[in-house]
Amino acid sequence: MSRERTLPDEAATITLGQQLASLLQGGLVVYLHGDLGAGKTTFARAFLRALGVGERVKSPTYSLIEGYDLEGRRAFHLDLYRIADPGELEWLGLDSLAEPGAIVLVEWPERGTGALPPVDLEIRFRHDGSGRIVSFEPRSSAGQHLINQL
Ligand code: ADP
Ligand code: MG
Repeated sequence: MSRERTLPDEAATITLGQQLASLLQGGLVVYLHGDLGAGKTTFARAFLRALGVGERVKSPTYSLIEGYDLEGRRAFHLDLYRIADPGELEWLGLDSLAEPGAIVLVEWPERGTGALPPVDLEIRFRHDGSGRIVSFEPRSSAGQHLINQL
């Protein structure tokens, strides 16, 4: 089952990130889909800030991956836009992404096929006039559980 929501402005994207973060129990792997400018980073920032990263959220645009320690929980934010071939990811040591309890947000996940942990929840952003539409596709019971509470 997939669900949609309209996000008329940036504030709505931020609220969604905060809301999903507040519902989170344990680890989760989220793939964020959508064109450049669709709102993936806006969502990821709000989500990570709400988890306690605060103003420390960095952009993984050049580093590809940023990791955060959140009182015992690990969170990772990846942006694979610059990856041409998933083989380029080998040196990054993405094994830690598969740790139980890890929270993983991936922009441009299709560029990391085979190198990423299995997804719990896919989120798709698309333009809709000056706003956005977001759709949710749960891929595991953890992802489904989260979406059921939205
Ligand atoms: P992406 O990471 O998908 O490339 P960004 O999160 O960097 O996109 O967002 C690009 C722009 O879209 C930002 O200026 C942001 O403020 C804006 N934005 C985010 N969500 C919305 C929304 N729901 N409606 C209108 N603008 C939005
Ligand atoms: Mg981005």
